[in-house]
Amino acid sequence: MKFTPEKCSIPDERMKPFIDPEEIWNLINNTKSTPERVRELIAKSLSKQRLTMEETAVLLNTTDPDLVEEIKEGARELKRLVYGNRIVLFAPLYVGNKCINNCQYCGFRSTNKEQIRTTLSDQELIDEVEALEETGQKRLILVYGEHPHYSPEFIAHNVKLVYDVKKNHGEIRRVNINAAPLEIEGFKTVKAAGIGTYQIFQETYNPDAYKTYHLGGKKMDFEYRLTSLDRAQEGGIDDVGIGALIGLYDWRYEVLGLIRHTNHLEACYNVGPHTISFPRIKDASELNIDGKYMVNDEDFAKLVAILRLAVPYTGMILTARETPALRKEVLQFGISQIDGGTKLEIGAYAETENDDQNLHREQFAINDSRSLNEIMDELIATGFMPSFCTACYRLGRTGEHFMEFSVPGFIKRFCTPNAILTLSEYLVDYAPAETAEKGWQLIEKELQSLHSAEEKINVTEIRNRIEQIKAGKRDLYF
Ligand code: SAM
Ligand code: SF4
Repeated sequence: MKFTPEKCSIPDERMKPFIDPEEIWNLINNTKSTPERVRELIAKSLSKQRLTMEETAVLLNTTDPDLVEEIKEGARELKRLVYGNRIVLFAPLYVGNKCINNCQYCGFRSTNKEQIRTTLSDQELIDEVEALEETGQKRLILVYGEHPHYSPEFIAHNVKLVYDVKKNHGEIRRVNINAAPLEIEGFKTVKAAGIGTYQIFQETYNPDAYKTYHLGGKKMDFEYRLTSLDRAQEGGIDDVGIGALIGLYDWRYEVLGLIRHTNHLEACYNVGPHTISFPRIKDASELNIDGKYMVNDEDFAKLVAILRLAVPYTGMILTARETPALRKEVLQFGISQIDGGTKLEIGAYAETENDDQNLHREQFAINDSRSLNEIMDELIATGFMPSFCTACYRLGRTGEHFMEFSVPGFIKRFCTPNAILTLSEYLVDYAPAETAEKGWQLIEKELQSLHSAEEKINVTEIRNRIEQIKAGKRDLYF
């Protein structure tokens, strides 16, 4: 799919900063929202076209409750039409919380003396992975503070260790990374270890606001961070994840920052971000922000719906920072990935008892501490198809994630069957009887609807593979 590049005030050159705050504020201040325009833009998105920054600003400036509801309905419709009902599950695995930076919102910051600094040893990492595999996880994101200890070689070593851990039928099939920006050589090193996505959040796209929150360490350099995913691309990582920490600055500005970043990656590398994240600030030990830009649930839901419509092809991640109720609501606006069974305390997955010291080993407080199976139960009950699929990445279908979006029938031919197969594995290996019963019913319903789909789907072949899974085969995918 080709995108028409949007003319921005700063030209897009590789490894060059691309954010112009004035351009963004001009769009927010001078763009009008009318019912006609809003409806036209929803229709544009539903016809699978990206929105420009100016068009996104129209949606951001929509305040009429009925029109906002139409935007949300547009996002729901896009999800139904394009993505179907599958939701990919993953777990974050915090490896180490040493940090040289002083980010005012983060419990890991260097000046937080309450924080107990820990880094998992090889054996502790293996224990964590085994514990996660025993719950059925197949996809992890390794998370690190920023510290010389967490070198590209160290991260690559961790990644290889994780892939080697096999517990019964358990294995991790995709390891993503959320860590400090690297140089191109460093990105090449972690890429060679077989990582999936490298995620780096800009936190805020406003350079002045950025300065006020980042008071020490390498992370103070706004532009170095802004161009980090360019270096990742130059280092051969074509699955990159962008994000803004919502609550540091005006959320409408951040949405346009994310769109501008997307434009930049498309213009320079012909591929947009693999995922967009929009974590909201949560309470953290020694949190030091004034709360002026905190975003309420209503605006947050609007933000998610607008992002969905603005970049219809990109994966959107919603984490356990949010409550179960809010997650349930915004899942419908086109979220594609959520975490389940999340624990942020370092070493907590392998721990059996609650440890008081945990309070001092986590980065921030989460709002959804349900187990993976509880989350699976809710997804199944609400008609979502939980998926642990890792097929595209393992078949080399990377950097072109929007294939699933732009290639007719891709979702029905690949994503849904792979969701069914990975859910089948889960039901056989990990699910309690009640979850299994409901899960098989959902799979049967899905197979029936694939059978009657216009595209030619080989339902017999899917059924055949399910039988193979029941007989003990694993890791079957299309
Ligand atoms: N140290 C690396 C970095 O800063 O890029 C790794 C990331 S940090 C462990 C993961 C992300 O958590 C940060 O990029 C930030 O967006 C988010 N985060 C930090 N403090 C938070 C808080 N109090 N509430 C919610 N999210 C937070
Ligand atoms: Fe360190 Fe990252 Fe936390 Fe900043 S957000 S203090 S860099 S762990």
